[in-house]
Amino acid sequence: MLEPLRRIVQEVNQAPDLERALAIIVAGVKQTIGADVCSVYLTDFDRREHVLQATDGLRPEAVGQVRLPLNRGLIGLISERAEPLNLDDASRHPRYLFVQETGEERFRGFLGAPIIQNRRVLGVLALRRRAARRFEDDEVTLVVTLASQLAGAITHARASGELMRLQEPGALPARFLQGLPASPGIAIGRAVVVYPPADLDAVPDRPAADAAAEEEAFRDAVADVVEEIDRFATRAGSELRAEDRALFDAWMLMLESDTLIDGTLERIRGGNWAPGALRDTICEHARVFDAMEDPYLRERASDVRDLGRRILMRLQNLEVQPVDFPPSTVLVGEELSAMQIAAVPRASLAGIASTVGSSSSHVAILARGLGVPAAMGVADLPVGRVEGLELVVDGYRGRVYVAPAPVVRAEYLRLMEDDRALSDELEALRHLPAETPDGYTVPLYLNTGLVSEARPVGIEEAAGVGLYRTELPFLVRDRFPGETAQMTNYRQVLETFHPRPVTIRTLDVGGDKPLPYFPVSESNPFLGWRGIRITLDHPDIFITQVRAMLRAAIGLENLQILLPMISTVGEIDDALLLIQRAHDELSEEGYAVRMPPVGVMVEVPAAVYQAEAIARRVDFLSVGTNDLTQYLLAVDRNNPHVAELFDELHPAVLRALVQVVAGARAYGREVGICGEMAGDPLGVVPLLGMGVHSLSMGAGSLLRVKWVIRSLSRSRARELLGVALQCEDVAAVRRLLTSALEEVGLGGLLRPGK
Ligand code: PEP
Ligand code: MG
Repeated sequence: MLEPLRRIVQEVNQAPDLERALAIIVAGVKQTIGADVCSVYLTDFDRREHVLQATDGLRPEAVGQVRLPLNRGLIGLISERAEPLNLDDASRHPRYLFVQETGEERFRGFLGAPIIQNRRVLGVLALRRRAARRFEDDEVTLVVTLASQLAGAITHARASGELMRLQEPGALPARFLQGLPASPGIAIGRAVVVYPPADLDAVPDRPAADAAAEEEAFRDAVADVVEEIDRFATRAGSELRAEDRALFDAWMLMLESDTLIDGTLERIRGGNWAPGALRDTICEHARVFDAMEDPYLRERASDVRDLGRRILMRLQNLEVQPVDFPPSTVLVGEELSAMQIAAVPRASLAGIASTVGSSSSHVAILARGLGVPAAMGVADLPVGRVEGLELVVDGYRGRVYVAPAPVVRAEYLRLMEDDRALSDELEALRHLPAETPDGYTVPLYLNTGLVSEARPVGIEEAAGVGLYRTELPFLVRDRFPGETAQMTNYRQVLETFHPRPVTIRTLDVGGDKPLPYFPVSESNPFLGWRGIRITLDHPDIFITQVRAMLRAAIGLENLQILLPMISTVGEIDDALLLIQRAHDELSEEGYAVRMPPVGVMVEVPAAVYQAEAIARRVDFLSVGTNDLTQYLLAVDRNNPHVAELFDELHPAVLRALVQVVAGARAYGREVGICGEMAGDPLGVVPLLGMGVHSLSMGAGSLLRVKWVIRSLSRSRARELLGVALQCEDVAAVRRLLTSALEEVGLGGLLRPGK
């Protein structure tokens, strides 16, 4: 029965609207099971009714007419219990409700299964047959399995169909489509749909008539793309932060990489024409990224494909489509690439909505850099149907409204107005100290890592760099960067912030972030070979990196080294020995290097319980709340299915943090926070109460956090922490902290989403 099941689901997924999707379901299921009737009832949540929405076997006139109150009948029972029901004779069940209009009196055997999405019963799939006989076990499992797969398809088809109807006069307003918040803010504008310019997959193999001419055409095409990206980069130059501009560098590196150029040339010399050779090179390269667990890295596959399409377009002599961008463009696409965004003049770009991706996508990073609201992973957005329609993008909650009703529009206009007022207030805080009303200063540091040559925004505000993530230079190359290349990179950051401290973290790749040229295959990558575990197993990588850091700091002396993913003290001892060795080697070679302060990231529960033992060994502790929350709550930080459960304000996380601060205090060590919690106005309150010594965050959060610190006394924060620690669930903690911020007039800082 698996094959028909697969076929039905596939056909449903391709249905253009709900009506046709349901027609496929009822006909397909009825035939596969050999039942006499198959019907679908959908839940109308507004009217609290189940509506007969499709049937094969009952009277067709009843569709849309039969409406049962939510708690009535067998359909109501299945919905209430969210469980299947299998009966030999439905009419003898106490909850049976006879519905005259359907002509159902002829049927006795009954099987119903709930259609559930995110704990909500969207409807019921019901089968009937004449014989007074229960359905067989394998029939039940088929129906239950099918029902479990239908929820997504139904939501998608509903959204698509609603949009069709929207274009009819007197249509109802659409509901919002849910995606993931990717860049905060609200946008109202016109949808401009962008689509891939040239289809790599459609390119056939063809023998190269003249290999030299193919080579030349390919090189010219690449040169054209290099020029195009250079133009984007120049235009975006003044609007983007340095760390975001590094994306353009990454594309350039990819374009000029041996993998792309030599790979294609080799294939051309092997006999294929340039487009065919390019297709194979791009596919091979993209597959490496596709296979990665980490969504950020997986995103690079779309960059690779996008570059490939751009080169192909040149090879095919296709003109770049000059798209006309209206003043408030909301860019919409299936697989939007950062380059397509860069092609829109900033003044015209109001918002971004994409059916794939998440907040760690390149597109999201770029959107945040540009300050453009974005919702990603809006899977139900019917991209083909929205061109030219008005869209609202709610980047706080990850929602998209298509052709919003006037009330929705008015509400969002009001929110946009509030946002504008808020940013004016925040600007006024620039250059004021991050000091509580009762006189405690909390140094605010920057998290950077994509930072390249130029000076990052926020530099005057920040007390230094609290976390410099070193992964990127390792990821954009096709081999490990050497000592000198790394040194140049680190020197840049150290100089930029000198004399303020810069904390550089040793390489934290592996497991979920494998290097393309260092493949690792693991079934539980988050619990696998990552961070310090890899670098200690490969002292060559570690020593090279540390040597680069120490040399970069000569004469500046503002370097601090941070060790990620520590779970045993042995790892610290080993790492310290290697750092000492690197130092001694360099000294012997005549370099005037100094031993820098070394710190440990607390991001594994084991490190929480050993905070004292850790503090005894190093100079400072820095808590990575992203990973700590992931590991304490057993919630994958990248998985949208469990995203609701990921919360740094969970009482267990708060208790863990208190314990870390106490452990560090025993040895007089300072504790900083460098996970996302440090940049969240609500998170700052308990952190302030615990007496953490510093907070490190993305540049966009600095002023918001400063506002909290300047508005809330440390003693009040302590009191609030005391109450929060008594809370048993995260909702209570959120309520408490939200009202505390509202009390001091900071309600406007809280994102509407959480
Ligand atoms: C963290 O885990 O909180 C952290 C800062 O490190 P990363 O997000 O790079 O894993
Ligand atoms: Mg981490």
